[in-house]
Amino acid sequence: MLPRDCDVVVIGGGFYGMRIAAMTAAAGRSTTLLERTPRFFGRASMNNQARVHGGYHYPRSVLTATRARRNYARFRREFAAAIDDSFQHVYAIARHQSKLGAREFAEFCRRIDAPLSPALRAIADKLDPNSIESAFLVEEGVFNAHHLAQQSLESADAAGAHCAVGFEAVAVEPGSHRRLRVQWRLDANRGYIEADWVVNATYASLNELLARSELAQVPLIHEHTEVAVVVPPPALRGYGVTVMDGPFWSSLPFPVFGAHSLTHVRYTPHARWRSDDATPPMLETHSSHFPLMQRDAERFLPAMRDAVHLLSLWETKTLLPRSAGDDGRPILVQQHDDAKGLVSVLGAKIDSTYDVEDELRDLILTT
Ligand SMILES: Cc1cc2nc3c(=O)[nH]c(=O)nc-3n(C[C@H](O)[C@H](O)[C@H](O)COP(=O)(O)OP(=O)(O)OC[C@H]3O[C@@H](n4cnc5c(N)ncnc54)[C@H](O)[C@@H]3O)c2cc1C
Repeated sequence: MLPRDCDVVVIGGGFYGMRIAAMTAAAGRSTTLLERTPRFFGRASMNNQARVHGGYHYPRSVLTATRARRNYARFRREFAAAIDDSFQHVYAIARHQSKLGAREFAEFCRRIDAPLSPALRAIADKLDPNSIESAFLVEEGVFNAHHLAQQSLESADAAGAHCAVGFEAVAVEPGSHRRLRVQWRLDANRGYIEADWVVNATYASLNELLARSELAQVPLIHEHTEVAVVVPPPALRGYGVTVMDGPFWSSLPFPVFGAHSLTHVRYTPHARWRSDDATPPMLETHSSHFPLMQRDAERFLPAMRDAVHLLSLWETKTLLPRSAGDDGRPILVQQHDDAKGLVSVLGAKIDSTYDVEDELRDLILTT
């Protein structure tokens, strides 16, 4: 059963919630984490492209690129067992419609101190020179979300956090002695837990919880996304390819399925809406965009015609509006004036957890 009282309640059992629970528990704060689905890591922390960002993806946001660069080595060290960097990862610069040329990309990598070398002939020769200006080999791996989940849960457990699945946080409201009260439900059972701090780490559902709690919402952008999981063509085995920098695509190893992901800047999002839109789009499952992704990818790497679609991962991607201008990935760590002690967090990519944790530590663990 859940305690009635603790120092910190974390809502959301994805990568962020789990990391935060481990951090506060390790600092000696009694911590309870609530996850509403039957398992941890069932949502965005599983349904993504699994790229451990090394900075290369953000040539128009030097801040995001520099932070990713800094976090990359740390993440790789800390989650070594979950990382696959055994493949050759090629960044190919599109000849037409790219927002930057090959020379600019190389200069950008030099600026952020990201290793870059010419791609091997074995893969470069398979790219269509009419569509690709230049191809580079980069140092950027992918993660296995199952291993990440296991390691995160073990860390939270070892730190003494109480992590519970099936518990939905229904609302956050004023409690006794100026604390916060989190109302929860588990099937037909209802109860509450009081805490000094409540961390809303529900990613796509940040505003759902705030709205139910009758609190001011956070401006967000949502996308209904599809990551196709494919058997790669033989020519792509042992490689990952990312075509930059515009409406292009990427196919990387996806360790959980022993397959590859296929994503496309234009076709992965099926719908996009702002959190304050009066009528968000209906979110029934759409028919797959895999054929569109594949057809476009073939223009750059003809062998992609032999990729075989296995399944698609559907998820609501959530970004801050500030991302729109430069495609950067700012983080959110926001205290709510109308509910003192409640903090909403959003990390737009996995490695940004270190930046979120730094801000949260200053807020929660030093006061
Ligand atoms: C298509 C796509 C591709 C991406 N690609 C990458 C990539 O390649 N590399 C990268 O670093 N990042 C990527 N990301 C971003 C990354 O997935 C997220 O930054 C990260 O997973 C967010 O983790 P989280 O713990 O905040 O969210 P989640 O993993 O979604 O966890 C939130 C949890 O909160 C739970 N929850 C919601 N409401 C409640 C409630 N009321 N009570 C209790 N529990 C609740 C949910 O069930 C869920 O388990 C991608 C995201 C998407 C969607």
